[in-house]
Amino acid sequence: MSKNFSDDRNQQQGLQMNRRKFLKAGAAAAVTMGLMGTVGAMPAVAAEAAVGSSVTVNGARSKLKPTGQYGPASVKFATFNNEWLGTTKLVGEVKNINEAETGFSRAGRGLYGKESQIGRGYFIRKDPAGAAEHDTLMILATEPAVQGKVSPVKLNVPDPEQMSQNIKDFAYYLRADEVGIGKMPDFAWYSHKVTDQHALAVNDVEKAVTPVTDRLPYVIIVMVDQNLETMLASTGYDQISGAQSFLGYHATGVIAVVLANYIRNLGYNARAHHARNYKAVMTPCIISAGLGELSRTGDCSVHPRLGFRHKVAAVTTDLPLLPDQPIDFGLQDFCRVCKKCADNCPSGAITQDTEPVEYNGYLRWNSNMETCTKFRTTNKEGSSCGRCMKVCPWNTKEESWFHSAGTWIGSHGQISSKLLKGMDDMFGYGTEQIDKYKWWLEWPELLATPEKMPGLVKY
Ligand code: SF4
Ligand code: SF4
Repeated sequence: MSKNFSDDRNQQQGLQMNRRKFLKAGAAAAVTMGLMGTVGAMPAVAAEAAVGSSVTVNGARSKLKPTGQYGPASVKFATFNNEWLGTTKLVGEVKNINEAETGFSRAGRGLYGKESQIGRGYFIRKDPAGAAEHDTLMILATEPAVQGKVSPVKLNVPDPEQMSQNIKDFAYYLRADEVGIGKMPDFAWYSHKVTDQHALAVNDVEKAVTPVTDRLPYVIIVMVDQNLETMLASTGYDQISGAQSFLGYHATGVIAVVLANYIRNLGYNARAHHARNYKAVMTPCIISAGLGELSRTGDCSVHPRLGFRHKVAAVTTDLPLLPDQPIDFGLQDFCRVCKKCADNCPSGAITQDTEPVEYNGYLRWNSNMETCTKFRTTNKEGSSCGRCMKVCPWNTKEESWFHSAGTWIGSHGQISSKLLKGMDDMFGYGTEQIDKYKWWLEWPELLATPEKMPGLVKY
């Protein structure tokens, strides 16, 4: 059952404390509320982290960004082995997924109804900015772009750590916000990739897919922020929502294609994966590369500084590299008590269960992929949806000592998680819309009749 949040938005915002006034009031107000006492109780190193310095870095150090990019969160390192993918317990065989069974592919096959099947072909075109970003990425989706020729001259790479540093620096130079290197999880590869959209549209899966036989040992993840101000001004499911996703998708796609080309110029195999041409599921790769933990949504990872407010692309490669470790910033405890994404999901797709369940070999929370995909492909108020991204406390950040302290607190178990969640709710983080940041134009007629748009491309 869909919820309508528009009607009570003003009322909610009226009840919430004006956090800007509070932040201006500074430490005096904090002392009144007893929050400085909490900061004062932190260990010295952590208290330093809470006011803005960085934690120890993972893996090879970048020269351009030599310290950790985790923000104020308290981060430990976890492992990737047969039993654990970071903080996610592996309780059985994780089967490789056929791309034809993913949410948007199932919508394209007509399994979620006609409206969703048609909507899947044009929802991004409900906003001209989203369509522009999408179409640009399509130009980079060809096989020569993602997997071109490898140079016949293989250059010597004597030091994998130095090479890893160089790869991270090149990606930062190309304007990535985060870069991580992971051991490629074998189960992250798709078993089959959709290669024939026409066959998919008539649900001829056998003809629509091709087996994926690639097996390269490392994955490089490049991550781009979806823009704080845009998120603060948006509902998360309005006209800019699809464009915000494709900001991250097209930007990371460009970086991944160039990075893969660079590695092939060194004489090593490299394949770019982006939103218009994946051969692998990204979330296990993100976790392996130390850029997030699996969240309550089941399919999406949260980064300790950016939350969900990011998109990624990847490069798989056999270039000699030093992989990073997965990270643990306390998200499992936090998600157990928070449920803010579930409370705010307009389609009710995210579980309210307290404990994770077994799903395809993972112990994880399980969201309803069908309900979410149907909403995103048929949303009458906007293009797609990212409401869960907007409300998650880990990405609703402004630069302030107050939020830094809260984020540090949130990394320390369930009781502290309740405190951060309470602070987040009290200040209206994640649910407000700040008009001064609304930079985009809207065309409601495109929401009503996008299928009549010139240049409609179904995919
Ligand atoms: S994108 Fe997130 S908030 Fe929107 S419908 Fe899907 S799960 Fe719910
Ligand atoms: S909103 Fe809360 S429950 Fe949902 S992913 Fe973020 S921290 Fe976890």
